[in-house]
Amino acid sequence: MMFILKPNRDESKIVESIRSRSASYRVVDLYGRRIVIAWPDKLVEDVIDEDVELKIRSRYKFPLTSNEWREKTIFNIDGIEIGSRKIVIIAGPCAVENEEQMIEVARAVKRAGASLIRGGAFKPRTSPYTFQGLGLEGLNILKKVKDVVGIPIVSEVMDPRDVYTVSEYVDVLQIGARNAQNYPLLKEVGKSRKPVLLKRGFGMTVEEWLLSAEYILLEGNGQVVLCERGIRTFESTTRFTFDIAGMVVAKKTSHLPVAADPSHPSGKREYVEALTLAAVAAGADVVMVEVHPEPSKALSDSEQQLTVKEFENLMEGIKAVAQAIGRSI
Ligand code: PEP
Ligand code: MN
Repeated sequence: MMFILKPNRDESKIVESIRSRSASYRVVDLYGRRIVIAWPDKLVEDVIDEDVELKIRSRYKFPLTSNEWREKTIFNIDGIEIGSRKIVIIAGPCAVENEEQMIEVARAVKRAGASLIRGGAFKPRTSPYTFQGLGLEGLNILKKVKDVVGIPIVSEVMDPRDVYTVSEYVDVLQIGARNAQNYPLLKEVGKSRKPVLLKRGFGMTVEEWLLSAEYILLEGNGQVVLCERGIRTFESTTRFTFDIAGMVVAKKTSHLPVAADPSHPSGKREYVEALTLAAVAAGADVVMVEVHPEPSKALSDSEQQLTVKEFENLMEGIKAVAQAIGRSI
C-alpha cells in the first residue's frame, strides 16, 4: 500500500499505525513527495490518517514505478529534457578505446544531432579473454571528451563499489543487461542521485525489469530511464530478440521515460536502422545507438556499430518518423 503524505506532514503517526499492525514499511522522498510504502496490503487496508493525501493499493508489485500515482516523469540532464516530446539520441562506441577515437566520434555524433555520448569504461564481457575496458583511464578520457566537445556522458557501472567514483566522471550511470538484477548495485545507484539508464536483462520479464527500477526509486532516485535492449529467445538470426512490445508495456505501465537500444539486439549493423525506426514509431523517448569511427577495428561489438555516415543517415530517418508521430529530435 502506498500512502502519499500531504506536503510538510510527518510520517510518525502513520508509521505508528503500520507498526501496530505488524506490517513492514519504508519511507521514501521521491519527486518532492514523502511516501510511505507498507506491506502486506491486507494488514494495512484499514489504515487512515489525516496526514495522508492519497492512499493507493497498487495493482502491481512496483507501486513507485507504476503510473497509478504519477502520469509521466520528465527530468533534466545538463539541460536536456528526458521524457518530453523531444526524442533524445545517445550515440557512441561500445567501449572507450582511446582519446582520439572518443573525441572524433563525440564531435561527429554531436554534429549529427546526438545529445549525449556513450562509451563503456568498465565492460561486462562474456569472455574474460576479451577486451575488458580501460577502467579508470577510460573515465578520464570521458571527462576530457565532455570538456573538449561539450556533450554529457553515459557510461556503465558494474560494481557497487565503483558507483561513487563513476558518478564523479559521468552524467548518466548505465546499468547493463547482465547487472539489471544486481540488487546491491541497484540500491547503490539509487542512493547516488545520478540519472540511471536501466537496461532490461536479456532473461527478464517486463515485470522483473520494472521491479529493478523499483529498487532504484525506493532509494529516492526517480531519474530512471528504462532501456529495452533485446531478450534471449529461440531465434538465432539476430543477436537478441528486440522486444518492442515489452518497451510499450513498460511505457504504458510506468511513469518513467523509455529507451531503445537497437544495436545489441541487431548484432549486425544492417538491421540497426529498421529496429531504430520501429522503436521510435512505438514511442521510445530515448534511442541509444552504437557508433564507431572505424567499426571494423572496434575492440568490442564490432559488427553492430554504425559508421558516422550511417549514423547521419539514421538521424534523417529518425527525424522523419518522429515528425510523423508528432515528436521531434
Ligand atoms: C553496452 O551498452 O555496450 C552493453 C554492454 O549493453 P548490454 O548491457 O545491454 O549488453
Ligand atoms: Mn556494446
